[in-house]
Amino acid sequence: MISWHCVAMGAGEEFEKDALRVVPADRYTRREALRWGSGAAAVAALTPALLASGCTPAAAQPASEVDVAIIGGGPSGLYAAYRLLTGTPTSGSPVTKGSGAGGRPSVAIFEAADRLGGRIWSVIPPGAPHLIAEFGGMRFLKTQEIVPRLVRALRLPYVPFSHGDGRNLVYLRGSRFRAEQYADPAAVPYSLRASEAGKTPAELMNSAIDAYVPHAATLSGAQWERVKKTATCDGELLADQGFWNLAQQALGPEGFDLAADGIGYPTLVENWNAVEQMQAIAGDFAPGAAYLTTTGGYQRLPLTLGAMARRAGAAIHLQHPVVRLMPAAGGSLSLTVQGPGGARSRVTAKHVIMAIPADPLGRLADQSPFLQDATLTAALATVGTSPASKMFLAFDKPWWSALGITGGSSITDLPVKRCWYFGTEGQQPGANPDNHHSLLMCYNDLSEAGYWNGYQPAGAFTGPPAPRTSPRALVDSAVAQLSELHGIKVPDPYWSGFINWQNLPYGNAFHAWQVHARSWEIIPYLRQPLDGIRLSVCGDCWSPAQNWIESGLTTTEGLLQSTFRYRPPPWLPEGAGIST
Ligand SMILES: Cc1cc2nc3c(=O)[nH]c(=O)nc-3n(C[C@H](O)[C@H](O)[C@H](O)COP(=O)(O)OP(=O)(O)OC[C@H]3O[C@@H](n4cnc5c(N)ncnc54)[C@H](O)[C@@H]3O)c2cc1C
Repeated sequence: MISWHCVAMGAGEEFEKDALRVVPADRYTRREALRWGSGAAAVAALTPALLASGCTPAAAQPASEVDVAIIGGGPSGLYAAYRLLTGTPTSGSPVTKGSGAGGRPSVAIFEAADRLGGRIWSVIPPGAPHLIAEFGGMRFLKTQEIVPRLVRALRLPYVPFSHGDGRNLVYLRGSRFRAEQYADPAAVPYSLRASEAGKTPAELMNSAIDAYVPHAATLSGAQWERVKKTATCDGELLADQGFWNLAQQALGPEGFDLAADGIGYPTLVENWNAVEQMQAIAGDFAPGAAYLTTTGGYQRLPLTLGAMARRAGAAIHLQHPVVRLMPAAGGSLSLTVQGPGGARSRVTAKHVIMAIPADPLGRLADQSPFLQDATLTAALATVGTSPASKMFLAFDKPWWSALGITGGSSITDLPVKRCWYFGTEGQQPGANPDNHHSLLMCYNDLSEAGYWNGYQPAGAFTGPPAPRTSPRALVDSAVAQLSELHGIKVPDPYWSGFINWQNLPYGNAFHAWQVHARSWEIIPYLRQPLDGIRLSVCGDCWSPAQNWIESGLTTTEGLLQSTFRYRPPPWLPEGAGIST
């Protein structure tokens, strides 16, 4: 057993390098490596140090001219580079006669952080080298159109992501019951209408959505595009109404409260654009929804895209934020890029792809007067942001097993909110079977993220988001709430880590469309918003069903197929996965 003092440092300090290791892209078995085939051999050769400290040595200067500059090394920016360099442009493509090897475009990725992956951050916790703490995104839906196919095309191994079962706990309004007891109205402390009694929160929410969009859970992305343009309530487009307003109208206040509390993601049920939230919720909470994740960490997906792009010729510059953009001759752009020592350099790019979220884009616009164009500013303002935090607690053994809980999440209206159980170290392939260290995650957004902020040291509010050792008072509060949720005295964890996704360079954690936003107009507009300037915006902020890697890849693939005139990749059927 590792003692608390051994791995926990002073409150709020960032993890020591040896206490916390970023998951390398090359952490897979020899058998898996063979399955990857020759195309992935370069990925296998990447070392953790190379991944963590930069694909380009810090001293290397960016080239002064490039065909395509990509701002942002998150999943969307890395996918853009990977596709530009490995995909097939049609004859009308603006990058057919590129200045890179073999006539390919020369591509440079500028990433502000010292790592690739954006809001995906997979970490190996101390004492459990085969478990992964996913401080950002952690899973994908089997029904998504791009990510599952991409994962298979990249030959990344993947496994089901546990839902848990009816024995998982619910603790709402001071009552503790098992998830299977939603079927028993007497166990559920809400005054529900007769038609609502006995339903789970997901069933309630789906019935509210179905009242406006029949069979919502079965609709494809293309079908949702049609629904958005046509579906109305009381003669007004759903896009012009608030989700909370309509869902509460369909369910009644108590039914809505149970659905919202029991789903446990306050951001989802805020009063955002009704039709956009309906698409997001219907996909996520569809009956029988199945989730998957890549083994060895979800960050392997963006890391692998980065490795493939680099192998195909992309120059990747970590710790190189783009701090200013200016139009240059003939529709090109001039980027001011800041290196790790603060020195600035200029790069001229024929095309710029901004794959960054709303807050950092706003910061860049503050420094770049031409980005303050009124129409562009209004378009960017059509999404709002929401904070989120994640806390991991590592225990000597999985004390929840004694309660019959095997995985998935329990849920409460206490600030710990959604509490996810991950397996033990010893259950993982290749691990020491006698090591019972186990991991639990508390996942909070909106006001609950604010609750945990109160325990953060000052440094957490000024620097970029990073997994930090949890302050002792935060751990004590979490343990007290977990004890309340589980109805037992929860033991002290031997380690805890925490992240708050609120600061630059990521900005806030989540994004959602405002009421009255027309996503089907904004998304194509952002592919080249300024006349005569080859500047594009993609990523998950202005996308359908936001807050998934899938969403970011949807707008990126749409950009590549329309503006850059690339054929769909061979693994993606024509028309699949792209937005309007
Ligand atoms: C807590 C949490 C849980 C999530 N859960 C899931 C999940 O389970 N499954 C899922 O699929 N998705 C999940 N997501 C969403 C997922 O993380 C995002 O959809 C995805 O990361 C978006 O990719 P992106 O490349 O568009 O943006 P980002 O990942 O935000 O990447 C943008 C990159 O741009 C960089 N950058 C910003 N400004 C600049 C600048 N000026 N110059 C250079 N670089 C800059 C940033 O450092 C960052 O690396 C979750 C997100 C969070 C926060």
